[in-house]
Amino acid sequence: MLPWMTYEAMHDAVLKQPEQFWLSAAQRVTWKQAPVTSCRIRADGWHDWFPDATLNTCHNAVDRHVENGRGEQAALIWHSCATKERQLVTYRELRGKVAGFAGGLRSLGVEKGDRVLIAMPTMIETAVAMLACARIGAVHVVVFAGYAGPELARRIDDVAPKVVIIASCSFQGQTPIPSASVLNEALTKAAYRPQACVIVQREACPASFLPGRDHDFHTLEQSSPVEPVTLRSDDPLYILHTSGTTGHAKGIVRDNGGHAVALALSMDLIYGCKPGDTFFTTSDLGWVVGHSYGVYAPLISGCTSVIVEGGVSTAAVRTICHEHAVKCLFTTPTQMRLLRQESRHLPKVILPALAHIFVAGEYADPTLLDWARSYFCKPVVNHWWQTETGWSITAHFFGLPEAEPVSLMNDIGRPAPGFRPAIMPITPGEPCGEIVLSLPLPPGCLAGIWREREIHPPTLYIDETGKYYRTFDEGMIDKSLAVHMLGRSDDVIKVAGRRISGVQIEKIIAAHPAVHACAVVAVADELRGQRPVAYVVADSDFVPLSAEDIIGQVHQMLGRWVGIKEVHFVERLPTTVSGKITRKSLHVSAGVAEKPPVPFISDVFMM
Ligand code: AMP
Repeated sequence: MLPWMTYEAMHDAVLKQPEQFWLSAAQRVTWKQAPVTSCRIRADGWHDWFPDATLNTCHNAVDRHVENGRGEQAALIWHSCATKERQLVTYRELRGKVAGFAGGLRSLGVEKGDRVLIAMPTMIETAVAMLACARIGAVHVVVFAGYAGPELARRIDDVAPKVVIIASCSFQGQTPIPSASVLNEALTKAAYRPQACVIVQREACPASFLPGRDHDFHTLEQSSPVEPVTLRSDDPLYILHTSGTTGHAKGIVRDNGGHAVALALSMDLIYGCKPGDTFFTTSDLGWVVGHSYGVYAPLISGCTSVIVEGGVSTAAVRTICHEHAVKCLFTTPTQMRLLRQESRHLPKVILPALAHIFVAGEYADPTLLDWARSYFCKPVVNHWWQTETGWSITAHFFGLPEAEPVSLMNDIGRPAPGFRPAIMPITPGEPCGEIVLSLPLPPGCLAGIWREREIHPPTLYIDETGKYYRTFDEGMIDKSLAVHMLGRSDDVIKVAGRRISGVQIEKIIAAHPAVHACAVVAVADELRGQRPVAYVVADSDFVPLSAEDIIGQVHQMLGRWVGIKEVHFVERLPTTVSGKITRKSLHVSAGVAEKPPVPFISDVFMM
């Protein structure tokens, strides 16, 4: 039971007595050594949460539930929309798989602090591999299975993993896409050599093993089980790459203790979920929502987590919610637009167990939320997230006894505990500007950037005063503390909720010998929210250069999910007098992705 009746009471408690607030929230976690201090500032500007405490995240997510009588409860339920397979794993079975696979990783030489790269679609084995790493203190680096070889190679070189784990294939729709060739290409391109590779064999497209290099996942799962090791709260749990302003993918580092506390609190406070409830996220496990709400938060909270491989149809969402008595559905606006498209001729759905639906990851217009509310006959809300924060910065709080005002339901909500947003106006006196967050960020947020000091240009996450974290999102804050988002201030494009930097695409296009100059901008896409469009100046010595050449090059380097379809050949790109490309003017001619209208706000908070 949460100790606050209202949002205001909770907000007050965390602002006035943060130490007490977080030490009390920390009681949701089973510690080896309980924390006495909540937060310690580090010399590099980031923060360590519960620095004097020790625990094991895998023990919190798996073993303690078996010990507390939940052994026969479903921990993970998996549906593959590609193969129509399904699998249910109880907490007891999960403990067996994870402890065995952890033993298998050890037999390959993996120890505490070693990185293990997991490039797999959403499967039970993906979650098992993540939890097995957590069990022995190895740092997992889950990579979206749709990445092309060169992008996988970049991540291998970035984190130098001792072991790489893949499935023999992933799926595009129902078509199996072999993964071994992508892995082989990546390993040819990468400068770093992992010690071993592990392959989950799938019936649809088995891989042939390279003797001496490749090992079978399910054989390793049968290894002698190992117990969870004791870790410091600030030891890293995982690294997750995300695109950002500099055009480089950056590895976000997440700790163990702060992460476990924040996610356990969020399940109760934001999602209104208690132990035994069923939580269903449609996110791929390779993205942050899949990490946080496909695996860790529901399991740490003793819930059942439903995960899916591939795009879910409306019929599948209805069946899954119905069969597993899903209480909370977490999806993206892109998925919701697909559901709206498919469900035109379907009757309204009655799902008695479903309490709330959440979307995140991109702008959701109020008409979409209204449609979802009338179709599911349930509250549907949007909340604001970043890979960097690991949980929602602003949200709606269904765990609080007092319901929030209906007027707040159409936007991204108010700050979650510990997030203290402010506006950095671009033009002095303007109510809108970049949203910054006062440091320290609450537990669960990034504990630093992997190899941060080696990144050039620097990441710029911490502003020059050292007081604020820069979100690179623009918006405003109103009198009720509600945050209104207007979009990114940098070049990040959201394709079906997935982040890609326009500069990263530009670098690939510019590497084509027949390209003289290029610029990439985002345009609105009816289904996927945004998609990239390229403007290219061809080198006259090399013409003709086709759009297919450019599109092929981008897909080969990054993967088809980037979804670039449009290339415009122009004689020159618009520039400022100092020669910088004015992408904003290209936005206008391309019909930029529509931003939400600026709400009328009478009283605005600024820095
Ligand atoms: P990611 O790191 O992939 O989760 O992407 C984070 C970015 O997605 C944010 O910086 C925003 O630009 C955007 N975003 C996330 N949630 C929302 C939301 N609810 N509404 C609008 N944009 C969002």
